[in-house]
Amino acid sequence: MTDSFFHEGDLVGVLTAQPLDRLLDYKAPEGGCHLGAFVEVPLGPRKVLGVVWGAGKGDYDRAKIRSVIRVLDVAPMREEMRVFLTRAAEYTLTPMTAMLRLATRAPGLGEAQSMRKIYRLGDQTPARMTDAREKVLGVLRDYGGLSFTLGEVAEMAGVGTSVVKGLVKLGAVSEEEAPRDVPYPQLDPDYGGKALSADQAAGAETLRAALRSDTYGTTLLKGVTGSGKTEVYLEAVAECLRMGRQALVLLPEIALSGEFINRVEARFGMRPAEWHSGVTMTERRRCWRMVGQGDAQLVVGARSALFLPYQNLGLIVVDEEHDTSYKQEDGVLYNARDMAVLRAAINGAQVVLASATPSLESWANVEAGKYTRLELTSRFGAAVMPKMAAIDMRVEDMPAGTWVSPTLRDAMRKRLEKGEQSLIFLNRRGYAPITLCRACGHQIGCDHCDARMVEHRFLKRLMCHQCGETKPLPTKCPSCDAEDRLSAVGPGVERMGEEVTALFPDARVAVLSSDLYGSARAMKAHIEEIAEGGTDIVIGTQLVAKGHNFPLLTLVGVIDADLGLQGSDLRAAERTFQLMRQVAGRAGRAETPGEALLQTYQPEHAVIRSILAGDEESFWAAEAAERKAAGVPPYGRMAGIILSSPNVQEVFDLGAEMARMDGPLRQIGAQVFGPAPAPIARVRGRHRVRLLVKAEKSAPLQQALAKWAGQFRLPANLRMAIDIDPQSFY
Ligand SMILES: [Zn+2]
Ligand SMILES: [Zn+2]
Repeated sequence: MTDSFFHEGDLVGVLTAQPLDRLLDYKAPEGGCHLGAFVEVPLGPRKVLGVVWGAGKGDYDRAKIRSVIRVLDVAPMREEMRVFLTRAAEYTLTPMTAMLRLATRAPGLGEAQSMRKIYRLGDQTPARMTDAREKVLGVLRDYGGLSFTLGEVAEMAGVGTSVVKGLVKLGAVSEEEAPRDVPYPQLDPDYGGKALSADQAAGAETLRAALRSDTYGTTLLKGVTGSGKTEVYLEAVAECLRMGRQALVLLPEIALSGEFINRVEARFGMRPAEWHSGVTMTERRRCWRMVGQGDAQLVVGARSALFLPYQNLGLIVVDEEHDTSYKQEDGVLYNARDMAVLRAAINGAQVVLASATPSLESWANVEAGKYTRLELTSRFGAAVMPKMAAIDMRVEDMPAGTWVSPTLRDAMRKRLEKGEQSLIFLNRRGYAPITLCRACGHQIGCDHCDARMVEHRFLKRLMCHQCGETKPLPTKCPSCDAEDRLSAVGPGVERMGEEVTALFPDARVAVLSSDLYGSARAMKAHIEEIAEGGTDIVIGTQLVAKGHNFPLLTLVGVIDADLGLQGSDLRAAERTFQLMRQVAGRAGRAETPGEALLQTYQPEHAVIRSILAGDEESFWAAEAAERKAAGVPPYGRMAGIILSSPNVQEVFDLGAEMARMDGPLRQIGAQVFGPAPAPIARVRGRHRVRLLVKAEKSAPLQQALAKWAGQFRLPANLRMAIDIDPQSFY
């Protein structure tokens, strides 16, 4: 990339988001264009968006090459972004066109900035003042020089729009045309800093110093639940803003963003830009444009916020870095945590990975000296980690169809008597995981997947948790036609709600599960009500493990601590350990000490024992030793290959052929396992076969995989997905 400007008529190579495997040559338009410019180009009969990626190759008949139609009115893509997309594509084996789609996921980028009318305080005072007029002027005075749309002013003042328009005629309110996408308000890094504990202050200074170094670095910020990690990394954000650089905070769950945005506003005086699926299309476009022109200082968002066109990115915080939702599981398969590190390394930016229970990957990077470790040891205020104990289910007296042991029941009763909250944790949505026919033994499954349908009594339907298909609860068995013989087997959170209500009929019981709410707002409102004490007993899925504060909670009961230990996932132990620690961390956050009780049939299991002992270092050391011995991540490399097709024969044939023709993999010492039916062998009517490739950590896995996969011709209906560093094995 030598020339950065192309004159009219020069050949340019343009990357488009169309599924082509090459750049397309065009002539630079009148006035020329810069390297990285976003352009509109003709493609057949269509006009498509593209980015000027370099000089054209010139290997076509020059007379037939068409011109770029126009250069779009957005900031050109910076070189560091082009490098980031290229390296991310190489790492994930994704076509560049798909990477460009990820980087341009905002509507209307090609359109000219549209205008709208905005309203602000005028310089006249109306001769006759009314209550309604005073309200409007009051609102505009309160917000200083800020401007609003007609609807916004009217709503904030609680008056009709005609009142505002009347004031415009009198010159008391001014009406102007302004671009629809406006800059985000300035954040003030010195607005609302909280008093920090000594622990926090030291941590904050370490992060600030790292930022001032103006170089790349990654810090693992580890702190138990309630240790105040957020306050500490917000100080790093503040320092980043003072330096005039942009900051990004990634959150694993949109449901958490509302609470988080409020904390940002309290700290910096204004709200930041938001980027996630809950944001309107208009707001997405605004965010994309403003980030690109440097008019958004802080973005709070989901993983895809990494692909926004930052001008000067100085800091990326990945909150709850261990969370599995950072791995995108369809389309481009990438892990946002790892891509954040890549992006920061290219930009000379700092990364903060925050977690109470870090991933083994990050733990190993600290051990290897790649990341710096920063630990907050004390919980905020007087609270300490809860006392943990196992309930040995082999000796508990359990009537059939019940799941709360007598020991847990007694502990809950004590909390009720003291007016404290209990949390009953079960990581299973719905009423019951299995619907079984008592006459013939048939279990109701999904028509499109090899998965059982889960009864959701609240919705009065059966639901497939793989594909989302639902159907009404049948009254007769679909297999043998027996009437009224279907019964629910096993517990889900809804059923736990029933059992707990029967045990404690006078208690206020709430079930917290993401599928019980019509909107994120409704869920948030309910969580707030619970936190304020509106409930005695909360029954929840892993939703409750994710960062919500319940200050009155002093008991956590885990219904099935063994649940996550089943299955073939190499991270099963790690996930169980993290989840149990996170859930237990909900107890005793305020002044009262907490207790966590784990119901288990295998109290001597190594993972259960290390959870109870609370000895993290020894858990991680043991887990690391086991993975090292097995040569699996993070000490070896893996890639999953999923072949899927409506035609079962075709997927197995191709899988077998791939296993046979493994030359390119053997060259780098990698091994292929499979083909085997994927653990869920059919999803949405497609049969799935998987192969697993294992290699040494230093092996050039991506090149070998590309060479290997390139040998095969895929039948029309067959899809191949390559998943580097797979997180899930379904
Ligand atoms: Zn039956
Ligand atoms: Zn299904």
